[in-house]
Amino acid sequence: MSFNALIVNKDDAGKVSAAVEAIEVDRLPEAEVLVAVEYSTVNYKDGMVITSGGGLVKTWPHVSGIDFAGTVEESSDPRWKPGDKVVLTGWRVGEIWWGGHAQKARVKGDWLVPLPEGLTTRQAMIVGTAGFTSMLAVQALEDHGLSPDKGPVLVTGAAGGVGSVAVSILAGLGYEVAGVTGRPETESYLRELGATTIVPRAEVAETVKRPLESETWAGCVDAVGGAMLGRVLGQIKYGGSVAAVGLAGGAALPATVIPFLLRGVNLLGIDSVMQPYDNRLRAWKRVASDLPMDRLEAMAVPATLSDLPRLGAEIMEGRIRGRVVVDVN
Ligand code: NDP
Repeated sequence: MSFNALIVNKDDAGKVSAAVEAIEVDRLPEAEVLVAVEYSTVNYKDGMVITSGGGLVKTWPHVSGIDFAGTVEESSDPRWKPGDKVVLTGWRVGEIWWGGHAQKARVKGDWLVPLPEGLTTRQAMIVGTAGFTSMLAVQALEDHGLSPDKGPVLVTGAAGGVGSVAVSILAGLGYEVAGVTGRPETESYLRELGATTIVPRAEVAETVKRPLESETWAGCVDAVGGAMLGRVLGQIKYGGSVAAVGLAGGAALPATVIPFLLRGVNLLGIDSVMQPYDNRLRAWKRVASDLPMDRLEAMAVPATLSDLPRLGAEIMEGRIRGRVVVDVN
């Protein structure tokens, strides 16, 4: 029995290439649950894996795809039975384990969550890892006291995957949302998702000059990191928090500790990969209840397996707007 998968391979000269190939089911890694994948996505990490391996892939050939949604086909895990609709994000699937850019995937039962009630497999993958992580970030900010009456919330990398979902969730919850973007042409898109203020990237891109700027944002979902995160920390209102999600602008953190010491600002780390099961369920339930579905459609970019080599390169260049949803069939 063969199926189509995006095979990413590295040649003897170290060059990485990716192409759709038909492969046999018995080539899948050994694990308890065989899933007929329906939809997958393109996240930043997928771009790294498809274009270079990104230091994430240990063995070649490899199947990329850090997330997928589909239907259980076979299971030796009593928690899952054929016909169950499931979602997978994280657990290093698509990095050190063959992933979801394929019509079938075999994974551990521990890694799956049930498809949240109210979502289709396609909608779950428009959300994908990027959107699920945005919800984890919003939950963390709220757990640290954020509420709509505290003031506007900033989202950096707003037109990207994490940013688009964060803008939509926050606006849907009644927050005043400001989005940082380096692409002025995305302004009407961001306003459609619910942003009321657009901050040009250049305004927050430069390294910290004054450790404290005026108190502007009650909180921030940060997909960019680097100098921008350092700058934003100095603009957070007293007692507010920044959820650090991504590093699209760099892994360094040129900042001062002054906002922590003089304004009680919190820097909250967000990891979606090893997130415990209960909090995964909590976040997915809130995605289903709090993310306006019309906004979700506005950010969806349809794709197929054969589009992935191009899309992997584009996400690395920051050229993808919103969320790619890959119909693998
Ligand atoms: P995208 O490429 O879709 O979005 C990133 C956005 O960041 C871009 O669209 C762009 O937004 C902005 N950006 C890109 N390059 C720069 C730059 N040099 N300086 C400033 N802004 C820049 O990626 P994702 O949304 O999928 O992921 C965003 C980040 O979050 C990645 O670093 C990813 O690895 C991380 N991530 C982390 C997770 C976790 O568990 N912690 C889970 C998922 C993602 P614009 O054009 O609007 O300026």
